[in-house]
Amino acid sequence: MITRMSTSKKNSFILVIIAFACISFTFKPDWGFYSHRLINKMAVFTLPQSLLRFYKPHIGFITESAVNPDMRRYATKYEAMRHYIDIDQWDTIPFSKLPRDFEEALVKYSSFHLINTNGDSIKMNFAFTNVDSLVEISFLKTKESFRKKDFMGFITQDLMPQFYDDEMKISTLKLNYWLKKSFIDTEKYPQLVLVDEFTEHGILPYYIEQGYSKLVKAYLKKDKDQILRHAADLGHYIGDLHTPLHTVKNYNGQLTDQLGIHPFWESRIPELFALEEYDFYVGKAEIVLDVRNYIWDILADTHSKAYDVLRIEKELSTKFPSDKQWCFDVRLDQTVRIQCREYAKAYENALKGMVEEQMTKTIKVTGDLWYSAWVEAGSPDLRKLDKNPIAEEKIVNDPTLSVREY
Ligand SMILES: [Zn+2]
Repeated sequence: MITRMSTSKKNSFILVIIAFACISFTFKPDWGFYSHRLINKMAVFTLPQSLLRFYKPHIGFITESAVNPDMRRYATKYEAMRHYIDIDQWDTIPFSKLPRDFEEALVKYSSFHLINTNGDSIKMNFAFTNVDSLVEISFLKTKESFRKKDFMGFITQDLMPQFYDDEMKISTLKLNYWLKKSFIDTEKYPQLVLVDEFTEHGILPYYIEQGYSKLVKAYLKKDKDQILRHAADLGHYIGDLHTPLHTVKNYNGQLTDQLGIHPFWESRIPELFALEEYDFYVGKAEIVLDVRNYIWDILADTHSKAYDVLRIEKELSTKFPSDKQWCFDVRLDQTVRIQCREYAKAYENALKGMVEEQMTKTIKVTGDLWYSAWVEAGSPDLRKLDKNPIAEEKIVNDPTLSVREY
């Protein structure tokens, strides 16, 4: 629920936003990251006094670092998947098929292969039966049911630590140990491999939950650097969670001849109209008790808007004069082809305030989760932590990486 404020209060608040936004433009004149920075900055002001006192001296870091996760997309192959989920690959609202536990989802939509002594492989199949909390495992003519809890113990304790290795390969002895019987002939099939077929479609909601846990731990340790880094990162991914095209396979209109719609919606429109028109007042951060379902409810809400984002632009593009849709502009000494202001305005009007609504929600949700993580950590007293600035993260690009471009 968005609370409204009186006009005089609102005007002074808008002036504060303009002042902060001008600073952003002055120091870093790039455009694509504008919304992420503004959201992290505004989220600081939703916090209660006890936390605001800690965050405020570091507002510059929180603001600038809001874009670090995007910069990291070119540094490690594991980063890009954290920014989106092609949820239409797996499920439809209300997302009852796709497990909300990351490890269960990974197992459900990946494949397992037993490797024999010659290095040949055969596929193992897994099926969860929710009613009895069982998992049915089958390969060749063998088929048996086990307790899901035991099987997931194997995944969590023994397999997941290899998630960042090149290959998730493990001795079948380990599986037999967890299943409490000699289910696999370990002499014939000494190894088991999990082939990840899940994460290429993105892990955004799962990663927000992980990011939240990291923030709780940082608060528990009263580790100033870690609190600020995890809070800044979390704000970024929450921003992505509110961007409808981060939740569909047709993420940049590439399947519907609408290439460029992704930056049109999330960068061009806020850059043109956020300061002039948006009312970012969201009230105070509130405590979230069920973080996982809170995240998935937001995902459902965001995803429900994706088809409007695409449909409305498609309809507009057929009505609006075609020679007035694309303009040229100079950015950082380069001429770029970009949607004309008038066309952007027409799209913004047709969207009926959707971009503003999504940005405003992001600010509130970011504040909610920064605050809730602190409460979950036992509301540690952060007053004694020094106020010295912390170092900017050093991000080194890997030139061999190819990542999803918008
Ligand atoms: Zn992102």
